[in-house]
Amino acid sequence: KNSGSDKFVYYNENILLSSRRQQEMLYDVIRCLNDNYRGFLIVYQPIMNVKENRIIGMEALLRWQDSQRGTIAPGSFIDQIEKEVAFYGLSNWIIKRAIEDSKEFIRKDPDFFISVNLSQAQLHNDRFMSDLDSILKEADIPYKNLNLEFTKRCRILESEEIKDKMITMFNKGVRLVIDDYGSSYSSLNLLSNYPADRIKISREFVKDIDKSKTKQITLNAIIDCIKQLDKEVCIEGIESEELLKFFVDNYDIRYAQGYYYSKPMVLTKFRELYEKMNAVPLRS
Ligand code: C2E
Ligand code: MG
Ligand code: MG
Ligand code: MG
Repeated sequence: KNSGSDKFVYYNENILLSSRRQQEMLYDVIRCLNDNYRGFLIVYQPIMNVKENRIIGMEALLRWQDSQRGTIAPGSFIDQIEKEVAFYGLSNWIIKRAIEDSKEFIRKDPDFFISVNLSQAQLHNDRFMSDLDSILKEADIPYKNLNLEFTKRCRILESEEIKDKMITMFNKGVRLVIDDYGSSYSSLNLLSNYPADRIKISREFVKDIDKSKTKQITLNAIIDCIKQLDKEVCIEGIESEELLKFFVDNYDIRYAQGYYYSKPMVLTKFRELYEKMNAVPLRS
């Protein structure tokens, strides 16, 4: 799987070793999940208004840390821990913590938003809507400052019930984001029949766009469509100045996220970057 889909490799000792290591790690992650989320932390990546070169929000990204392995990104464990009962509690913990951490920026900029990734386990939980209400009431921030990101792991296309929940959230004013658009999970239905305020164009699709005329044509039409539907477009995975310039020049892109600006980081580091980038007041 690591070398892509539809590939096979011959068995060797290293495969056994690495899959055994992976199993051991998963075992430890799940043990920590069930032990008050021990070792779990949240890092934040800035979301930029590229035209104003200013941070306008942040995405909360989960990490797991232990003394031997260091800090581990969710790609290697999220699918597995999602199936655990305790994952629902962890998800609410993430939303609460992320909102708490975002308050200082909301105080400075009432439009600042905190974006949190959702998963199927939350959306399928009957308590989710009322838990979300309580979290927002207790946190005392407006609904609009919370963005919820939907990825393929939410399986929204497979359930009318989840669509109804999205509509309810949308109507309350929580802002909804379709994540990773342009990856495998990109039904046109998502654009035309689901409420969303912003569409994030997938890093996978964006990667080599400057070299592919067909990708450029496709993206041109998609971005046009998103803008006509009155939704915002955000480009993920901006890793270089050249790529950024390509999007600004060719697609008049306003919102972006990526390593070029910053990798995800702990709150104190995020704050430093925020103060540096947002120190200059906006020209009127
Ligand atoms: P995502 O929501 O699409 O988040 C963006 C991912 O792309 C993050 O990976 C981020 O570190 C990475 N990224 C951002 N900019 C760049 C770039 O310029 N280049 C490259 N190569 N990568 C970039 P991360 O943190 O490993 O998260 C992976 C996925 O795991 C997320 O994708 C999201 O779907 C899921 N995830 C992360 N945190 C949570 C969470 O708290 N709850 C749930 N349910 N899922 C989460
Ligand atoms: Mg996301
Ligand atoms: Mg994404
Ligand atoms: Mg993703």
